[in-house]
Amino acid sequence: MATSPKIIFFDLDGTMLRSQDGHVAFNEAILKTFGVPGDIRTIRPDGKTDPIILQEIFDAGGHDVEWSPADTASFSAHLKECYIRAISEGPTRVRALPGVPELVRELNRLPDLCLGVVTGNMEVTARLKLQAAGVGEHIGPGAFGSDSAVRNDLPAIAMERWSRHLNIPVEPGQCVIVGDTPRDLEAARTNGMKCLLVATGSYHPMEELRELGAESLLPDFSDTRAAVDALLGLFG
Ligand SMILES: [Mg+2]
Repeated sequence: MATSPKIIFFDLDGTMLRSQDGHVAFNEAILKTFGVPGDIRTIRPDGKTDPIILQEIFDAGGHDVEWSPADTASFSAHLKECYIRAISEGPTRVRALPGVPELVRELNRLPDLCLGVVTGNMEVTARLKLQAAGVGEHIGPGAFGSDSAVRNDLPAIAMERWSRHLNIPVEPGQCVIVGDTPRDLEAARTNGMKCLLVATGSYHPMEELRELGAESLLPDFSDTRAAVDALLGLFG
């Protein structure tokens, strides 16, 4: 493997993929774990970690729920079980966003380039979604909502995992964040990493993202060549 790797950390929802009726599994897992009804559709989850999303759902529903790390682990396990069933039996469908499978294949062919994820999803659901979207085999280590509720913590955790995975030091300048929300950009900046924003999320149109001043901005990943060039341009 590379002696001076370039690592791209992709966000999942709105960036690599989209879940149709993904709320079904999430809401089922809330009921199973905490015994209260909760609905992810009552809040805006974009760019947030699953623990923050849970808290906002409880607040929106007026549920005074306190939970421990053991409950978080239990929620993760239920979420995995509910997601597997919702994907295999319906109604949930996970699809890669346009151009993403081609982009991932193309990036995977380049020497010294590594692909990981930084996402607010729990790791178990992140892996399930990547697999369902058909790109799981190309994506290495990352950081997840199960590692920290604070998104800005995640890039450093992901970088450290790659450092251990490759058994060499990795610096923030060797890492790039790709996402669809201002929170992805903030996490990149907090960690001294450059950022490419893509306007395929549900909440932040191109004009809004443009004002944020990320190092790179694309409407989507349908032009593989343009996306590869934009990403490689962020290193060095
Ligand atoms: Mg996102």
